[in-house]
Amino acid sequence: MDKKHILVVEDSPTQARYASLLLENAGYKVTVAETGNGGLDLAQRCQPDVILLDVVLPDLDGFEVCRALRQTVLDYIPVLMLTDQRTGVDDRIDALTVGADDYLAKPFDQRELLARVSALLRVKQIIDELRSRLTSEHQSYQALKRVALIDYLTGLYNRHYFAEMLENEFAMAQRYNRPLAGIMSDIDLFRRFNTRYGHQTGDWVLQHIARLMQSHVRRGDMIARYGGEEFVILLPMTDASTAAALAERLRNQVETTVLEHPSYGPLRITVTFGVAAFPGQDIGSTDKLLACADKALYWAKAAGRNRVAVYEPEMAILKANP
Ligand code: GH3
Ligand code: MG
Ligand code: MG
Ligand code: MG
Repeated sequence: MDKKHILVVEDSPTQARYASLLLENAGYKVTVAETGNGGLDLAQRCQPDVILLDVVLPDLDGFEVCRALRQTVLDYIPVLMLTDQRTGVDDRIDALTVGADDYLAKPFDQRELLARVSALLRVKQIIDELRSRLTSEHQSYQALKRVALIDYLTGLYNRHYFAEMLENEFAMAQRYNRPLAGIMSDIDLFRRFNTRYGHQTGDWVLQHIARLMQSHVRRGDMIARYGGEEFVILLPMTDASTAAALAERLRNQVETTVLEHPSYGPLRITVTFGVAAFPGQDIGSTDKLLACADKALYWAKAAGRNRVAVYEPEMAILKANP
């Protein structure tokens, strides 16, 4: 096991040497700083396990050093303050107040110094273990969160997360009486595309279309992969005609983009869009908002694909009469 590292901040060479010898004989690695600033610098760079800090130093005094340590050095390093026997209780209280973990009055007893250092090393070890456990838990949490929110193929939000966002945004729109638009989109004749070029190429296209659409939605809008080759966009504080204008830009962008596939060369694809917005007739819930955008999409497909349609109540009859 690595030797524990003690930083001794002590301006008196005699006392520094004495403390170093003592600690080295007890099996510790020792670094000495002769000034307060030097101590701060070494604490930052060497990440010692415990700091022995003299109160009287030529530049900053030990209290200032300790306060600065607690404010600047992120990792917690226990500090044992070496106070002066003669200054008595005030120094000891000050030491603890500025963030020292313990104090020892000089001249100190050798065994007491070693006992206090080893007690502080125990504290340090517990802190380090806790931190590493928290870090790894945080990492697993982030990874899980990613799996839970993100569609693995396209990197867009998944349908599950979208549904959550939709609930929130819909509630806000109702409460503050603000418009909220939804755009449903579906790639045209994608089954045929897959048949012609293979499913893998289809996946490749999905990734490109997702990226293309994502780069064209506005900040604050939210795009998700709703199903296989269906994307949905939520546009807070946006009415139907503004959403339709955005959908039209996206449609045009997809239509005019040539995807250069490494094996098949230039590929083209088109997408159809349906738009609906709250407030509006038939649009009193999140489900209705999506259902109406879907009706408009269905209507636009029937009208020839590669176009944008905005929901109108007359479209409702399409369902019964496809
Ligand atoms: P339409 O213009 O009417 O939408 O015709 P379409 O062929 O696209 O019809 P539909 O939307 O019903 O079909 C979806 C097809 O998309 C089925 C499947 O072949 C393809 N698809 C769905 N999900 C994926 C996917 O993750 N990867 C690939 N490569 N294809 C998918
Ligand atoms: Mg001194
Ligand atoms: Mg589809
Ligand atoms: Mg389709």
